[in-house]
Amino acid sequence: MPKKYHIDTKKIPPRLPKTGKFGIVDWREDCARCHNCVKKACVYDRYRQEMQYIKDLEEFSAMFFECMGCFSCVQKCTKGLLALTVNPEYERMGNGYYTPDIILTTWNQAETAGIPVSGAGYRGKFTGAGFDSMWTDMSEIVRPTRDGIHGREYISTSVDIGRKPRLLSFENGRLTTALPPLVDLPVPIIIDMFPEEYRFPNLMPMLLAVAVRTGTMVIVDWERHGLPGTDEEKHLSNIIFHIGKEAPLPPPETLKKVRLIEIADSEEVEQRIEEIKAVNPGLVVAVRVELDARGENRSIELAHNPVIEVIHIVSDINGNQTGVEKPRFIKDMTRYIHTSLVKDGIRDEVTIVASGGIALAEHMAKEIICGADAVTIDMPLLIGLECRFCDSCRDGFDCPAKIESIDAKYGVGRMTNLIAVWHDQLIEVMGAMGMREARRLRGETGRALFFESIEEETFGRLFGKRISA
Ligand code: SF4
Ligand code: SF4
Repeated sequence: MPKKYHIDTKKIPPRLPKTGKFGIVDWREDCARCHNCVKKACVYDRYRQEMQYIKDLEEFSAMFFECMGCFSCVQKCTKGLLALTVNPEYERMGNGYYTPDIILTTWNQAETAGIPVSGAGYRGKFTGAGFDSMWTDMSEIVRPTRDGIHGREYISTSVDIGRKPRLLSFENGRLTTALPPLVDLPVPIIIDMFPEEYRFPNLMPMLLAVAVRTGTMVIVDWERHGLPGTDEEKHLSNIIFHIGKEAPLPPPETLKKVRLIEIADSEEVEQRIEEIKAVNPGLVVAVRVELDARGENRSIELAHNPVIEVIHIVSDINGNQTGVEKPRFIKDMTRYIHTSLVKDGIRDEVTIVASGGIALAEHMAKEIICGADAVTIDMPLLIGLECRFCDSCRDGFDCPAKIESIDAKYGVGRMTNLIAVWHDQLIEVMGAMGMREARRLRGETGRALFFESIEEETFGRLFGKRISA
């Protein structure tokens, strides 16, 4: 049995007080000083922790909002003095797509590397926009693939990045087809460049260290950063240089050492690939295609070109199409590209990497089901460093999470924890779906339910097709 892919993790506590969701308001005036006060019975021990928090405060910066919202003390207080309250600062976090719940979940995952368990079942909505209109089919949960989750069997999360031959030919039992270069990643996650306004130069060497520790790769803007860090030469196999439209190529000695490179889409794509391959024919070249009004059709057109190996489709930070009035969502655009290539009989030949709107591990699994071979991660890594997704970055103000002054041990540890826990959750989801390989999960829409289809099947006959707003 091959060695199992494993990421070492360690608990990395937060540097700042957590902006939690719930707190308890305590109307002490009428307190009867009960001997068996309900506060002592809090199973999460929050009252004692709150006292300690107040004692340790050097200066007041935030209230203690770490209550789990179980309502036990609220319901049992004999005088009805306790009330649950929602932290207004918590509700202000995020940008609408990255909700406060996503931010808090990501903080906890980056801290503990543990799969989030609410303990009280799922308390959210059952459908919504974006990835929330899609459910994965967990009906295989009792089947033997659970063994993969508990380590008795192997569930593979590795994926191949590159072009694959349509057919293999053999002569006298020997393979005669020339095999194109492939990059094997142990997990279908690539670290992407952060959006322009969220780029902190001090994070670049840390992102590379995370890529090395998790065995994945990081996309680095060649023009802006060149080689990040001091001992980067050692880690060129974990770096994907992104080459802008007008940017010069890295020198041949660098090109010869990297495995994968990314070029921006342009009319000169073929020519640039030729130049790169002339230096290093074993290098896999990805083309970064922005999902604007023509992005989907451009991706399909590129996939038909036999020199294109990887198409990296990129939506905006929230997974939306760019530059159009009514943007489509990344999952729908990926499905369209994927099914078009399946119909044309060429889907298996190219690799599709998808970016934008992948905010949680479940989004990664859903995006792969919609047809991506792999996804990229960017903003969740920054959130893992206690970013609150405020407007300060965008508006050029000081960062309340002090990202520019974090130390490498903290930064690398938290981001590694987050990738590790996304990997664990992917195994959980695949195990519950009865899938043993991330490669087979790609495009497996039979293991998913889509709200739009169910609604149409159920009510379409009565009310006709839904008209989008
Ligand atoms: S609501 Fe539950 S978690 Fe919160 S303080 Fe009361 S008992 Fe503890
Ligand atoms: S917390 Fe810091 S990194 Fe995050 S959005 Fe605000 S300013 Fe930017």
